[in-house]
Amino acid sequence: MSAFLLGKGSKRYHDLKTYWRNRFGYTVYKLPVDAGFTCPNRDGLVGTGGCIYCDGRGSSLRRERTLPSVGEQIRRGREFYRNRRGAKKFIAYFQTFTNTYAPCDRLKLLYDEALEQEDVIGLSVGTRPDCVPDEVLNLLKGYARDKHVWLEFGLQSINDKTLLRINRGHTAAQFFDAVERAADENLLICTHIIVGLPGESHEDVMETARVLASLPISGIKIHLLLALEGTVMGEEYKRGLINFWTMEEYVKTVCDVLEILPPEMVIQRLTADGYRDIFLAPAWAANKMSILNAIDREMERRNTRQGCLYHGKTQSQAKGSE
Ligand code: SF4
Repeated sequence: MSAFLLGKGSKRYHDLKTYWRNRFGYTVYKLPVDAGFTCPNRDGLVGTGGCIYCDGRGSSLRRERTLPSVGEQIRRGREFYRNRRGAKKFIAYFQTFTNTYAPCDRLKLLYDEALEQEDVIGLSVGTRPDCVPDEVLNLLKGYARDKHVWLEFGLQSINDKTLLRINRGHTAAQFFDAVERAADENLLICTHIIVGLPGESHEDVMETARVLASLPISGIKIHLLLALEGTVMGEEYKRGLINFWTMEEYVKTVCDVLEILPPEMVIQRLTADGYRDIFLAPAWAANKMSILNAIDREMERRNTRQGCLYHGKTQSQAKGSE
Protein backbone atom coordinates (compact mmCIF):
# COMPACT_ATOMS: atom_id res chain seq x y z
CA MET A 1 0.00 0.00 0.00
CA SER A 2 1.61 3.29 -1.06
CA ALA A 3 1.30 6.65 0.69
CA PHE A 4 -1.86 8.46 -0.37
CA LEU A 5 -1.88 11.51 -2.61
CA LEU A 6 -3.60 14.74 -1.57
CA GLY A 7 -5.36 15.94 -4.71
CA LYS A 8 -7.54 18.96 -5.29
CA GLY A 9 -10.73 18.62 -3.26
CA SER A 10 -9.50 15.47 -1.54
CA LYS A 11 -9.61 14.85 2.17
CA ARG A 12 -6.77 15.51 4.56
CA TYR A 13 -7.02 11.89 5.54
CA HIS A 14 -6.75 8.69 3.53
CA ASP A 15 -10.41 7.95 2.97
CA LEU A 16 -11.65 4.66 1.54
CA LYS A 17 -12.92 6.14 -1.72
CA THR A 18 -9.54 7.70 -2.49
CA TYR A 19 -7.77 4.48 -1.56
CA TRP A 20 -9.91 2.44 -3.92
CA ARG A 21 -9.57 4.96 -6.76
CA ASN A 22 -5.78 4.98 -6.36
CA ARG A 23 -5.60 1.19 -6.14
CA PHE A 24 -8.12 0.13 -8.79
CA GLY A 25 -8.80 3.27 -10.83
CA TYR A 26 -12.50 3.20 -9.90
CA THR A 27 -14.75 3.37 -6.86
CA VAL A 28 -15.74 0.12 -5.23
CA TYR A 29 -19.04 -0.30 -3.40
CA LYS A 30 -19.46 -2.35 -0.27
CA LEU A 31 -22.59 -4.51 -0.34
CA PRO A 32 -23.76 -5.43 3.18
CA VAL A 33 -24.52 -9.11 3.65
CA ASP A 34 -26.36 -10.72 6.56
CA ALA A 35 -25.43 -14.40 6.36
CA GLY A 36 -27.46 -15.34 9.44
CA PHE A 37 -24.66 -15.51 11.99
CA THR A 38 -25.09 -14.90 15.70
CA CYS A 39 -22.49 -13.66 18.18
CA PRO A 40 -20.62 -15.59 20.91
CA ASN A 41 -21.10 -12.59 23.19
CA ARG A 42 -24.85 -13.04 22.90
CA ASP A 43 -25.48 -16.77 22.62
CA GLY A 44 -23.65 -17.70 25.84
CA LEU A 45 -20.37 -19.09 24.46
CA VAL A 46 -18.50 -15.99 25.67
CA GLY A 47 -21.30 -14.07 27.30
CA THR A 48 -24.92 -13.07 27.14
CA GLY A 49 -26.49 -9.67 26.63
CA GLY A 50 -23.79 -8.51 24.22
CA CYS A 51 -21.82 -5.28 24.24
CA ILE A 52 -23.70 -2.58 26.12
CA TYR A 53 -24.20 -0.42 23.00
CA CYS A 54 -25.31 -3.27 20.69
CA ASP A 55 -29.00 -3.36 19.75
CA GLY A 56 -28.82 -7.06 18.81
CA ARG A 57 -31.36 -6.78 16.00
CA GLY A 58 -29.10 -7.70 13.11
CA SER A 59 -29.90 -6.37 9.65
CA SER A 60 -33.36 -5.24 8.60
CA LEU A 61 -33.45 -8.35 6.38
CA ARG A 62 -34.03 -10.42 9.52
CA ARG A 63 -37.46 -8.86 9.71
CA GLU A 64 -38.29 -10.48 6.35
CA ARG A 65 -39.81 -13.92 6.64
CA THR A 66 -36.71 -15.82 5.45
CA LEU A 67 -33.23 -14.36 5.17
CA PRO A 68 -32.38 -14.14 1.45
CA SER A 69 -29.34 -16.13 0.31
CA VAL A 70 -25.95 -14.43 0.19
CA GLY A 71 -26.14 -14.42 -3.60
CA GLU A 72 -29.61 -12.88 -3.60
CA GLN A 73 -28.57 -10.14 -1.17
CA ILE A 74 -25.59 -9.30 -3.36
CA ARG A 75 -27.70 -9.28 -6.54
CA ARG A 76 -30.20 -6.89 -4.95
CA GLY A 77 -27.49 -4.54 -3.65
CA ARG A 78 -25.56 -4.65 -6.92
CA GLU A 79 -28.62 -3.69 -8.99
CA PHE A 80 -29.40 -0.86 -6.59
CA TYR A 81 -25.92 0.69 -6.86
CA ARG A 82 -25.64 -0.01 -10.59
CA ASN A 83 -28.90 1.84 -11.25
CA ARG A 84 -28.39 4.71 -8.79
CA ARG A 85 -24.64 5.30 -8.99
CA GLY A 86 -23.44 3.49 -12.11
CA ALA A 87 -21.32 1.26 -9.83
CA LYS A 88 -19.21 -1.38 -11.55
CA LYS A 89 -17.28 -3.33 -8.91
CA PHE A 90 -18.27 -4.53 -5.46
CA ILE A 91 -17.08 -6.05 -2.24
CA ALA A 92 -19.33 -8.36 -0.26
CA TYR A 93 -19.36 -7.01 3.28
CA PHE A 94 -20.25 -9.75 5.78
CA GLN A 95 -21.43 -7.26 8.36
CA THR A 96 -24.05 -8.64 10.69
CA PHE A 97 -22.89 -10.04 14.04
CA THR A 98 -19.78 -12.30 14.02
CA ASN A 99 -19.07 -13.40 10.48
CA THR A 100 -16.43 -16.04 11.30
CA TYR A 101 -18.60 -17.77 13.89
CA ALA A 102 -19.29 -21.08 12.13
CA PRO A 103 -17.36 -24.20 11.11
CA CYS A 104 -14.78 -23.44 8.45
CA ASP A 105 -16.49 -25.49 5.71
CA ARG A 106 -19.72 -23.55 6.26
CA LEU A 107 -17.81 -20.25 6.07
CA LYS A 108 -16.16 -21.37 2.85
CA LEU A 109 -19.54 -22.07 1.24
CA LEU A 110 -20.82 -18.61 2.20
CA TYR A 111 -17.69 -16.70 1.15
CA ASP A 112 -17.46 -18.70 -2.11
CA GLU A 113 -21.08 -17.87 -2.89
CA ALA A 114 -20.29 -14.17 -2.46
CA LEU A 115 -17.15 -14.29 -4.60
CA GLU A 116 -18.95 -16.14 -7.40
CA GLN A 117 -21.31 -13.20 -7.95
CA GLU A 118 -20.78 -11.01 -11.00
CA ASP A 119 -18.45 -8.02 -10.45
CA VAL A 120 -17.63 -8.95 -6.85
CA ILE A 121 -13.88 -8.41 -6.47
CA GLY A 122 -13.48 -9.25 -2.82
CA LEU A 123 -14.75 -9.63 0.73
CA SER A 124 -14.86 -7.68 3.91
CA VAL A 125 -15.51 -9.86 6.94
CA GLY A 126 -16.51 -8.33 10.27
CA THR A 127 -15.70 -10.30 13.40
CA ARG A 128 -14.41 -10.35 16.99
CA PRO A 129 -10.75 -10.87 17.95
CA ASP A 130 -11.66 -14.00 19.95
CA CYS A 131 -13.35 -15.71 17.00
CA VAL A 132 -10.64 -16.21 14.40
CA PRO A 133 -9.09 -19.69 14.66
CA ASP A 134 -6.05 -20.28 12.42
CA GLU A 135 -8.13 -22.44 10.09
CA VAL A 136 -10.42 -19.48 9.34
CA LEU A 137 -7.50 -17.08 8.97
CA ASN A 138 -5.87 -19.47 6.50
CA LEU A 139 -9.09 -19.58 4.50
CA LEU A 140 -9.17 -15.77 4.30
CA LYS A 141 -5.45 -15.55 3.51
CA GLY A 142 -6.06 -17.99 0.65
CA TYR A 143 -8.77 -15.76 -0.84
CA ALA A 144 -6.55 -12.70 -0.34
CA ARG A 145 -3.92 -14.09 -2.70
CA ASP A 146 -6.04 -13.08 -5.70
CA LYS A 147 -9.01 -11.16 -4.26
CA HIS A 148 -9.33 -7.92 -2.32
CA VAL A 149 -9.98 -9.10 1.24
CA TRP A 150 -10.43 -7.15 4.47
CA LEU A 151 -10.80 -8.66 7.94
CA GLU A 152 -12.54 -6.21 10.28
CA PHE A 153 -12.00 -6.57 14.03
CA GLY A 154 -14.33 -4.92 16.50
CA LEU A 155 -12.03 -3.70 19.28
CA GLN A 156 -13.42 -0.33 20.47
CA SER A 157 -10.67 0.30 23.04
CA ILE A 158 -7.29 -1.14 23.94
CA ASN A 159 -8.04 -0.57 27.64
CA ASP A 160 -9.08 -3.78 29.42
CA LYS A 161 -11.05 -1.86 32.07
CA THR A 162 -13.11 -0.28 29.32
CA LEU A 163 -13.58 -3.62 27.52
CA LEU A 164 -14.95 -5.02 30.79
CA ARG A 165 -17.17 -1.96 31.38
CA ILE A 166 -18.76 -2.28 27.93
CA ASN A 167 -19.06 -6.08 28.20
CA ARG A 168 -17.01 -6.85 25.11
CA GLY A 169 -16.20 -10.32 26.42
CA HIS A 170 -12.59 -10.26 25.19
CA THR A 171 -9.34 -8.66 26.26
CA ALA A 172 -6.73 -6.51 24.56
CA ALA A 173 -4.36 -9.50 24.69
CA GLN A 174 -6.80 -11.51 22.56
CA PHE A 175 -6.82 -8.68 20.03
CA PHE A 176 -3.00 -8.61 19.87
CA ASP A 177 -2.95 -12.37 19.39
CA ALA A 178 -5.56 -12.20 16.61
CA VAL A 179 -3.68 -9.43 14.75
CA GLU A 180 -0.40 -11.31 15.03
CA ARG A 181 -1.94 -14.49 13.60
CA ALA A 182 -3.89 -12.61 10.90
CA ALA A 183 -0.90 -10.56 9.72
CA ASP A 184 -0.26 -11.39 6.08
CA GLU A 185 1.03 -9.46 3.10
CA ASN A 186 -2.30 -9.73 1.26
CA LEU A 187 -5.00 -9.88 3.94
CA LEU A 188 -5.95 -6.34 5.00
CA ILE A 189 -6.85 -5.79 8.65
CA CYS A 190 -9.29 -3.06 9.68
CA THR A 191 -10.03 -2.23 13.33
CA HIS A 192 -13.11 -0.53 14.76
CA ILE A 193 -12.81 1.86 17.69
CA ILE A 194 -15.35 3.99 19.55
CA VAL A 195 -14.57 7.51 20.76
CA GLY A 196 -16.35 8.63 23.93
CA LEU A 197 -16.82 5.28 25.70
CA PRO A 198 -17.94 5.48 29.34
CA GLY A 199 -15.03 6.23 31.66
CA GLU A 200 -12.63 7.02 28.81
CA SER A 201 -10.71 10.28 28.49
CA HIS A 202 -9.09 11.90 25.48
CA GLU A 203 -5.81 10.30 26.58
CA ASP A 204 -7.40 6.82 26.64
CA VAL A 205 -8.49 7.22 23.02
CA MET A 206 -5.03 8.46 22.05
CA GLU A 207 -3.48 5.43 23.71
CA THR A 208 -5.71 3.12 21.66
CA ALA A 209 -4.72 5.02 18.51
CA ARG A 210 -1.00 4.89 19.37
CA VAL A 211 -1.19 1.13 19.82
CA LEU A 212 -3.07 0.62 16.54
CA ALA A 213 -0.54 2.83 14.76
CA SER A 214 2.19 0.41 15.80
CA LEU A 215 0.48 -2.75 14.49
CA PRO A 216 0.21 -4.23 10.97
CA ILE A 217 -3.23 -2.71 10.46
CA SER A 218 -4.30 -1.24 7.12
CA GLY A 219 -7.60 0.40 8.01
CA ILE A 220 -9.64 1.88 10.84
CA LYS A 221 -13.27 2.70 11.48
CA ILE A 222 -13.82 5.41 14.09
CA HIS A 223 -17.30 5.43 15.57
CA LEU A 224 -18.85 7.82 18.04
CA LEU A 225 -20.75 6.46 21.01
CA LEU A 226 -24.52 6.25 20.51
CA ALA A 227 -27.26 5.43 22.98
CA LEU A 228 -29.89 3.30 21.28
CA GLU A 229 -33.30 2.16 22.45
CA GLY A 230 -33.25 -1.46 23.59
CA THR A 231 -29.59 -1.47 24.66
CA VAL A 232 -27.97 -1.47 28.10
CA MET A 233 -26.35 1.83 27.14
CA GLY A 234 -29.77 3.25 26.25
CA GLU A 235 -31.10 2.33 29.68
CA GLU A 236 -28.03 3.84 31.40
CA TYR A 237 -28.55 7.01 29.38
CA LYS A 238 -32.19 7.25 30.47
CA ARG A 239 -31.10 6.89 34.09
CA GLY A 240 -28.60 9.72 33.65
CA LEU A 241 -25.56 7.49 34.03
CA ILE A 242 -23.84 8.33 30.74
CA ASN A 243 -22.03 11.56 29.96
CA PHE A 244 -21.70 11.95 26.22
CA TRP A 245 -18.84 13.90 24.74
CA THR A 246 -19.68 17.13 22.97
CA MET A 247 -19.29 17.34 19.22
CA GLU A 248 -16.32 19.69 19.71
CA GLU A 249 -14.59 17.11 21.94
CA TYR A 250 -15.30 14.37 19.42
CA VAL A 251 -14.00 16.38 16.45
CA LYS A 252 -10.85 17.46 18.30
CA THR A 253 -10.09 13.89 19.37
CA VAL A 254 -10.70 12.43 15.90
CA CYS A 255 -8.30 15.00 14.39
CA ASP A 256 -5.71 14.24 17.07
CA VAL A 257 -6.06 10.52 16.28
CA LEU A 258 -5.73 11.10 12.52
CA GLU A 259 -2.51 13.02 13.07
CA ILE A 260 -0.79 10.12 14.84
CA LEU A 261 -2.00 7.28 12.60
CA PRO A 262 0.23 6.10 9.74
CA PRO A 263 -0.45 8.21 6.62
CA GLU A 264 -1.24 5.05 4.65
CA MET A 265 -3.86 3.68 7.03
CA VAL A 266 -7.23 3.74 5.27
CA ILE A 267 -9.91 5.67 7.14
CA GLN A 268 -13.04 3.67 6.47
CA ARG A 269 -15.39 5.60 8.74
CA LEU A 270 -15.42 8.68 11.00
CA THR A 271 -18.95 8.69 12.39
CA ALA A 272 -21.78 6.31 13.10
CA ASP A 273 -25.02 6.38 11.19
CA GLY A 274 -28.24 4.45 10.68
CA TYR A 275 -30.34 3.41 13.71
CA ARG A 276 -32.75 6.29 13.12
CA ASP A 277 -35.72 4.37 14.52
CA ILE A 278 -33.99 3.62 17.85
CA PHE A 279 -31.62 6.59 18.18
CA LEU A 280 -31.61 8.29 21.61
CA ALA A 281 -28.45 10.39 22.06
CA PRO A 282 -26.30 12.43 21.71
CA ALA A 283 -28.45 14.79 19.62
CA TRP A 284 -25.52 16.13 17.58
CA ALA A 285 -24.76 12.62 16.33
CA ALA A 286 -27.89 12.63 14.19
CA ASN A 287 -26.26 14.88 11.60
CA LYS A 288 -23.47 12.84 10.05
CA MET A 289 -22.53 15.44 7.43
CA SER A 290 -22.10 18.20 10.00
CA ILE A 291 -19.61 16.00 11.89
CA LEU A 292 -17.63 15.11 8.77
CA ASN A 293 -17.58 18.76 7.71
CA ALA A 294 -16.42 19.84 11.17
CA ILE A 295 -13.56 17.32 11.00
CA ASP A 296 -12.55 18.66 7.57
CA ARG A 297 -12.70 22.25 8.87
CA GLU A 298 -10.63 21.43 11.95
CA MET A 299 -7.93 19.69 9.87
CA GLU A 300 -7.95 22.71 7.57
CA ARG A 301 -7.73 25.16 10.50
CA ARG A 302 -4.75 23.26 11.89
CA ASN A 303 -3.28 22.97 8.39
CA THR A 304 -2.58 19.39 9.23
CA ARG A 305 -3.12 15.96 7.69
CA GLN A 306 -3.23 12.30 8.63
CA GLY A 307 0.13 11.00 9.76
CA CYS A 308 1.79 14.38 10.32
CA LEU A 309 2.64 13.30 13.90
CA TYR A 310 3.18 9.63 13.14
CA HIS A 311 6.57 8.48 14.34
CA GLY A 312 6.80 4.93 13.03
CA LYS A 313 7.78 3.66 9.62
CA THR A 314 5.15 3.63 6.89
CA GLN A 315 4.31 0.14 5.66
CA SER A 316 6.08 0.71 2.35
CA GLN A 317 9.18 2.02 4.16
CA ALA A 318 9.08 -1.05 6.39
CA LYS A 319 9.12 -3.20 3.23
CA GLY A 320 12.14 -1.22 1.97
CA SER A 321 10.35 0.30 -1.03
CA GLU A 322 10.82 3.94 0.00
S1 SF4 B 1 -19.52 -8.36 19.37
FE1 SF4 B 1 -20.70 -7.18 17.88
S2 SF4 B 1 -22.57 -8.38 17.51
FE2 SF4 B 1 -21.59 -9.19 19.36
S3 SF4 B 1 -22.64 -8.13 21.03
FE3 SF4 B 1 -20.78 -6.95 20.55
S4 SF4 B 1 -21.41 -5.40 19.05
FE4 SF4 B 1 -23.06 -6.96 19.15
